[in-house]
Amino acid sequence: MSTLTVQLGERSYPIHIGRGLLHRAGELLKERGIAQKSPLLIVSDENVAGFYLATLESNLQASGYKTVSFVVKPGETSKSLAVFEQVITAAIEGGLDRNSAVIALGGGVVGDLAGFVAASYMRGVKFVQIPTTILAHDSSVGGKVGINHPLAKNMIGAFHQPELVLYDVDTLSTLPPREVSAGLAEMIKHGLIWDADFAQWCRDHATDLLALDATALEYGLEKGCSVKAEVVSRDERENDLRAILNLGHTIGHAIEAIAGYGEFLHGEAISIGMVGSALLGVKLGADPSLVDETKDMLSSLRLPTSLPSHLDTDRLLDAMMHDKKFKEGSITFVVPRSIGHVEVVKDISVSYIRRVIEQLK
Ligand code: ADP
Ligand code: ZN
Repeated sequence: MSTLTVQLGERSYPIHIGRGLLHRAGELLKERGIAQKSPLLIVSDENVAGFYLATLESNLQASGYKTVSFVVKPGETSKSLAVFEQVITAAIEGGLDRNSAVIALGGGVVGDLAGFVAASYMRGVKFVQIPTTILAHDSSVGGKVGINHPLAKNMIGAFHQPELVLYDVDTLSTLPPREVSAGLAEMIKHGLIWDADFAQWCRDHATDLLALDATALEYGLEKGCSVKAEVVSRDERENDLRAILNLGHTIGHAIEAIAGYGEFLHGEAISIGMVGSALLGVKLGADPSLVDETKDMLSSLRLPTSLPSHLDTDRLLDAMMHDKKFKEGSITFVVPRSIGHVEVVKDISVSYIRRVIEQLK
């Protein structure tokens, strides 16, 4: 097991990464001072619960914890006010008090929902994250939790840091292959924005990562989390540094918004977006080899690097303009200068972006 300590402001918390951690959950919660007298609420989704909920419950109970579990349907629709209310009901009926903790056992959806329950139940109780996707390494740092409103995604939320994160890499073995690649997109993004050696390491270990080799995953997740922690903690001093975490996301969000539901996973959409950013980088002076290098890295992780032609350029541009970062005919973009180095450019004209989208097809 390796442990990374995330220091944000006054607070810090450990991210434990390793094999077999589900079987050590009770011990690690106790070590972190999670009260045994107060019931714990475990939130999970049907897929993840089928594989891992019984193991977690019995381990916690064997360590003297009382547990209540609430299982939601998989997918973004569970980040709703209605499901939020159901989870709060389960917390009240289960007798959770101020010293209780809410545990998220699952991917980003469960983490966002359970985290928001933890942030708001009795004005805030402790939150423990047990991520079961690779993508969720991204949301395990930074404390953003929340749910969707029918009119807008992630519109209702809070900042609520976890008390601890347990990343059991064994739980990743049941992830569908597409989810594995999509999660690796966010991992290599952390290399592309901050650490060229790490990006190259992801490329060199692509086969191990795709095969879910525990040693490779442990290193990659730790590095991904530590880059994010570094960027988020420096952001408190260097204004807007956090924006670099959005590499590939302006185009990626637009793809997600206009494509049919389920056509692209988040990681797949940002993969195409990162190639678009590289194309833009070259237009703004980066070495032309940047595009092929970026594509090679992403395709080694079995990620898409071009846009299907049926996605309409005008509709994509329109979706970007509805993004909150758009202002009067120009747009803010995270632009790579070389692998591992990016810059936030505030006034890219829409005609540039149009050309990039055409080139991506
Ligand atoms: P993320 O946003 O982190 O990708 P989601 O919560 O959207 O996570 O999960 C993606 C999908 O993968 C969901 O259908 C979820 O039920 C499923 N899933 C999550 N973790 C696992 C796992 N370890 N094994 C199998 N399926 C999983
Ligand atoms: Zn993302």
